[in-house]
Amino acid sequence: MTADVGLTIDDAISTMRNFRRTELDVAPESGIPDESDSPYIGEGFLRCARCEGAVVVDSQDVGWYTTSRFYRCPAPGCGRRAPVSEVDAELESLTRQYLAEPTVGEAWRAERLAKMDHWIAVGRTVLPWCCDQRRRRELSRRLGKRQRMYVNAPKEQLFWFGTTLAGLIIDRVLTAGNSMKGRSLAELHSADREWISCYRSLEPWRRRELRRAVGGRGQLKKIDDEWEWLQNRVLGLLQETDWFYSGPPSRLPTEQRTMNEPWSQSPGVMGRERRALMMWALGARGSAVRLVVALDAAPQKRVQVVPAGETT
Ligand SMILES: [Zn+2]
Repeated sequence: MTADVGLTIDDAISTMRNFRRTELDVAPESGIPDESDSPYIGEGFLRCARCEGAVVVDSQDVGWYTTSRFYRCPAPGCGRRAPVSEVDAELESLTRQYLAEPTVGEAWRAERLAKMDHWIAVGRTVLPWCCDQRRRRELSRRLGKRQRMYVNAPKEQLFWFGTTLAGLIIDRVLTAGNSMKGRSLAELHSADREWISCYRSLEPWRRRELRRAVGGRGQLKKIDDEWEWLQNRVLGLLQETDWFYSGPPSRLPTEQRTMNEPWSQSPGVMGRERRALMMWALGARGSAVRLVVALDAAPQKRVQVVPAGETT
């Protein structure tokens, strides 16, 4: 029975759930083992330029609500320290500078495309279950068992899966740039957006309240039909493999979650991810280097890149 669809329904369901849970993080991995478990980028990783001690983070309360954090060298007789926000700002600017180098940008793009291709291939294995009416009914029944009270609850899993895969395909085409045959990427983009905005408009509603608000079963049926139509349109498009997009690659290495906020303003946020990206950018340049920090130097002059194995 499943020979023509590839996956059993149980496999399809677990693939869909994993697809969402992984959040499809396509940031490159550094390949360098991350030995520090700290939420601060530099803690355990940066070495004191003077005595090679791995820096630690100290907190100091300033007034009622503010805490200042410092990187401090714990070596006996050293104890030098510098504000985390200032050092992190330097680490950010270093990372940006490396990501802007053409070879690093190319490596980033290649790695990202390979990862996205993998996830798109995984997502496509579920499509036979989503695109066939009868199978989709079976799938929806299994996925939406609970919480039928809310309008969106039974639709949720399929919606997240479909829009995540659509987003990934759009991202992939924009990352590669110039793809001259196939369906228009703009068509997928607008179909995806309309589906998302329909979902958002139904988000707060319980089924019973919505029925009352729109004026009865007939009107509610119209909403369900429109949903079906929007859903079918996106799921249908997802079966296409070639996309038309005339433009240069428009995803840059610096356009990612880890770079959204200035590192200096949010130390401790996404520290591991930022550290991974920074280490990846350092490694992608080919020569083995490490970072040391001159804690008593002037701001913006503290972080130094030195060849691995060399002491300052
Ligand atoms: Zn030191």
